[in-house]
Amino acid sequence: MNMPISRRILGTAAAAVCGAVLLHAELKYLKPGFNFFSPQQDIKLGQEAEAQVMKTQPVVNNKEVVDYLTLLGKKLQKSPRAGSFPFNYHLIYDKNINAFALPGGPIFINSATILAADNEAQLVGVLAHEMSHVALRHGTHEASKQNLISLPAALAGAMFGGTMLGSLAQYGLGFGANSLILKFSRDAEAQADYNGAEMMADAGYNPLEMAHFFEKLEANGGKMAPQFLSDHPNPGNRVKAVEEELQQMPQRDYNANTGEFPHIKDVVSRMPPPGNYKAAPAPGSAGSQDQTAPVARPAASLTSFSSNAYSLEYPSNWQVYGDQQSGAVTIAPGSGLVKGSDGATSVGYGMIASFYGADTGSVNLRTGTQQLIQQLQKENPQMTVAKAARSIRVGGQAGLETVLYSHSPYPDEARGVDLLVTTVRPQGMLYLVFVTPGSEYGQVQNVYQRIIGSITFQ
Ligand SMILES: [Zn+2]
Repeated sequence: MNMPISRRILGTAAAAVCGAVLLHAELKYLKPGFNFFSPQQDIKLGQEAEAQVMKTQPVVNNKEVVDYLTLLGKKLQKSPRAGSFPFNYHLIYDKNINAFALPGGPIFINSATILAADNEAQLVGVLAHEMSHVALRHGTHEASKQNLISLPAALAGAMFGGTMLGSLAQYGLGFGANSLILKFSRDAEAQADYNGAEMMADAGYNPLEMAHFFEKLEANGGKMAPQFLSDHPNPGNRVKAVEEELQQMPQRDYNANTGEFPHIKDVVSRMPPPGNYKAAPAPGSAGSQDQTAPVARPAASLTSFSSNAYSLEYPSNWQVYGDQQSGAVTIAPGSGLVKGSDGATSVGYGMIASFYGADTGSVNLRTGTQQLIQQLQKENPQMTVAKAARSIRVGGQAGLETVLYSHSPYPDEARGVDLLVTTVRPQGMLYLVFVTPGSEYGQVQNVYQRIIGSITFQ
């Protein structure tokens, strides 16, 4: 990329005019970090995740507001620091202050963010910050750092057609709307502030307003915008950092204000929730989705189940089957139970909870888990360990979590992903298996983790 050089030439030319410009040359020109994804793959991944967000979030098609966001975004896109991704802008009806960007360009702004901004420059600051995450490719950079082995293979697989999210999910890499592409490191935050401030100044807005807005969100311990601050953690001294950066920039007039902000804020404040919004696919309704898997997908709302041995929460659109007294149950949606050609029913989507080794006396967690996996492999010859056991807490005590691949009874699924959770109880080893079609696994890990976190023992 030769952008930094042309930028420096501009700076030198300006030096002849303005004495303060020597400092300008010290401004850093940030570049994206190492990345397994190509920029085109950023765009494809972002578009697929965008389609998911459009289906699962209350996205509002208010033309006036979206046109306004697009106008502000286009001003920022003229900055060379915006890179060349195809940005587009969406409004989400949400009382929580937040904003997020997906790889390759989709930007989402919550309605509450517009209401919380004091002026147009503050809203432009949020956009510039989000667009900087895209331009600097923070999402896929972070994913690349965290999946050094599995990601290159998954991306290679993704080149043979199909969806990017589906290919990544088959490798246990979840890139749904709630996944790590939305959570940034403090380094990434500092970079987004820095780059965003440059973009703002290039577009004619005072970068300090971005820092002031973030500072406002952090007042009173951040109660005003907990979600935003967890997605965009404060790198520290935001205002001071922008002030120092500003001192290195050439003098500019910040006069880009369109004057439309008060009107837009008024429109947003009177906006009704979108009528077509459905929080989760209703059980039993296939909607526009194909196959049975999405119908079976666990709802985000959970409900409680108690046996003699443990309590847990499970998705409200799944049902409990089995012997509640013994604690051996299958919890699944109707469409998650699949009848094979031999007439036997197997679980294609759902969870199983039971005890193993109940009659063998005391059980060691790690060796017991290995024996259980060997046992499961006898029953499912295609089963392999995808991710070795890692230590977790289950109901306040030591547990293990192992990811397995197995045959999926759904004909369109290349394989199933089984998340195995084990912990030792007086009754033997309690195990839970979350059985998931491979293409679905990326979408449901958050719900599974919530279920695991809900386990308590009497
Ligand atoms: Zn951020």
